[in-house]
Amino acid sequence: VEKNPSEKEFHQAVKEVLDSLRVVIEKNEEKYRKDALLERITEPERVISFRIPWVDDKGQVQVNRGFRVQFNSAIGPYKGGLRLHPSVNQGIIKFLGFEQIFKNSLTGLPIGGGKGGSDFDPKGKSDREIMAFCQSFMTELHKYIGADTDVPAGDIGVGGREIGYLYGQYKRLTGLYEGVLTGKGLTYGGSLARTEATGYGLVYMLDEMLKANGKAIAGSTVVISGSGNVAIYATQKAQQLGAKVVALSDSNGYVYDKDGIDLDLVREIKEVRRGRIKEYVEARPGAVYTEGKGIWTVPCDIALPCATQNELGLEDAKALKANGCYAVAEGANMPSTREATDFFQENGMLFMPGKAANAGGVATSALEMSQNSQRLSWSFEEVDAKLHEIMIGIFKKVDEASKRYGLEGNYVAGANIAGFEKVVEAMNAQGVV
Ligand code: NDP
Repeated sequence: VEKNPSEKEFHQAVKEVLDSLRVVIEKNEEKYRKDALLERITEPERVISFRIPWVDDKGQVQVNRGFRVQFNSAIGPYKGGLRLHPSVNQGIIKFLGFEQIFKNSLTGLPIGGGKGGSDFDPKGKSDREIMAFCQSFMTELHKYIGADTDVPAGDIGVGGREIGYLYGQYKRLTGLYEGVLTGKGLTYGGSLARTEATGYGLVYMLDEMLKANGKAIAGSTVVISGSGNVAIYATQKAQQLGAKVVALSDSNGYVYDKDGIDLDLVREIKEVRRGRIKEYVEARPGAVYTEGKGIWTVPCDIALPCATQNELGLEDAKALKANGCYAVAEGANMPSTREATDFFQENGMLFMPGKAANAGGVATSALEMSQNSQRLSWSFEEVDAKLHEIMIGIFKKVDEASKRYGLEGNYVAGANIAGFEKVVEAMNAQGVV
């Protein structure tokens, strides 16, 4: 805390991980201390921070701040998304990079942990401004990344369009046509099912958790926050498996549709028009739009927070419980505050943390890397089947680790322990680096 006084999200993430690793740490205390293992795993291998100048449509020069945190490469090249949002700062990127280490480990694939982004706000910018920004961002970032060193992907504010502009600039600067980014378009090395992967993976994980606890998705009522990439494809998969999704949101408010969300309409608003969720009620008069944050007061069986960090606090957790919600799985990274997480666990609700529940995105990114290396493309069904298998595998690892330490049903501890064990073994084998 003294070393990084303003990095509150990073402290929150580290504390949650270390608290739940207590049982493992106590067993190996002497060795970890001698090897400064915890000091090493909480210190990024490298933090890169730089200026991003670009010219807006009025001819005015704008300056943003860019980051890439290369946190841990014990089990593979750094892998993690790029976030474009005005709230981005070093502490947020470090929290995301730290979480990414354990998430990537859980996938069972050879990928280390990293994350990046900028405080650039893509909202209201023209295509040309987005391109100018992305080109300037990559002009600096390309020095530090590569198909075998560090492979960024999308995150909040970074979808197919942005990845395309970033990729074009990387190729222009390096002359390399390589899998340096994932989430690419299908015409230039992207993988089928990558767009759907985080949302689909979240629902596959939810399905495993419910089945293991004698419950089912079919027939349930689901509330999903956000209306971006993760929220949209979580909605799609939940609907395919027989759930009724009744609410979605954005940072301005939420829509409630008692008849079930019309996803084609949401996709038209968000993916084609790049509009706001409140436009939904213009076409569906039966639905209600409410300004503000109240989405967690909508009664449901299952809640899937898919927007951003700390969007679900203690009062929200209490409202969910009071309305009969029995399961929460996190599509976003750390969307529940520590108080909310504790409340879920202390009140008998099923809770799957983001680092396990949303790992399907990065896992499919790793499948994109494999296809790029082989110069092959797999079918949608093939990638989706692999994703499903990976999510089942993650659930098993998480469940097994929690049981091994007498913490059955504590999937927070299970995810942290299972992710940590593999990374630590690799770090130990590689000596003091
Ligand atoms: P998008 O940019 O596609 O969508 C983000 C959604 O969350 C938007 O609806 C946005 O609303 C809302 N949101 C963002 N910030 C806030 C805020 N401060 N308050 C309320 N709502 C907010 O991002 P993704 O769907 O890709 O990412 C969502 C979450 O999932 C993030 O936590 C991300 O880290 C995580 N994630 C994403 C993966 C991926 O593959 N994309 C993989 C693993 C995790 P608005 O338009 O108003 O900003």
